[in-house]
Amino acid sequence: MTQLPKTDVRPVVALVAHDRRKDEMVEWALFNRGTLSRCSLYATRTTGHTLREAMQADVHLLLSGPLGGDAQLGSLIAEGRIDAVFFFWDPLTPQPHDVDVKALLRLAVLYDVPIACNRSSADHIISSPLFTVPEQYRKDRGHATPDYAPWAR
Ligand code: PGA
Repeated sequence: MTQLPKTDVRPVVALVAHDRRKDEMVEWALFNRGTLSRCSLYATRTTGHTLREAMQADVHLLLSGPLGGDAQLGSLIAEGRIDAVFFFWDPLTPQPHDVDVKALLRLAVLYDVPIACNRSSADHIISSPLFTVPEQYRKDRGHATPDYAPWAR
């Protein structure tokens, strides 16, 4: 399992793009290169390779999405190790790993992790003042069991 420090002072950001949205992800990441260079970046494998090449940046690679990368990311979210997810998924193409995609979306909502699934949401999240102070934001959110799931505490 990929080990992420729990106390990273930089925002820990996950980047995932389905194939037909990878170009858009690259364009968006290059536009936001300055901000992203001050983050710890994690990505599913093919997205990560593409971004590494385009940005000349250090991107930690998870497995490829269809081979379990989305599921890995879901488990990192459940462990409170991810501050924000930029997930450009493809709404027009059936995915073999649809159940993993659904689980990832579900866990991001369950654990109240900001998740952008299109470019304008991504712009809003990355330009939020909260984005640059993950320590404070993690504390405010408690980063633990959601309030509406008291049975899980
Ligand atoms: P990939 O996976 O970055 O390995 O293409 C993305 C996905 O399909 O979830």
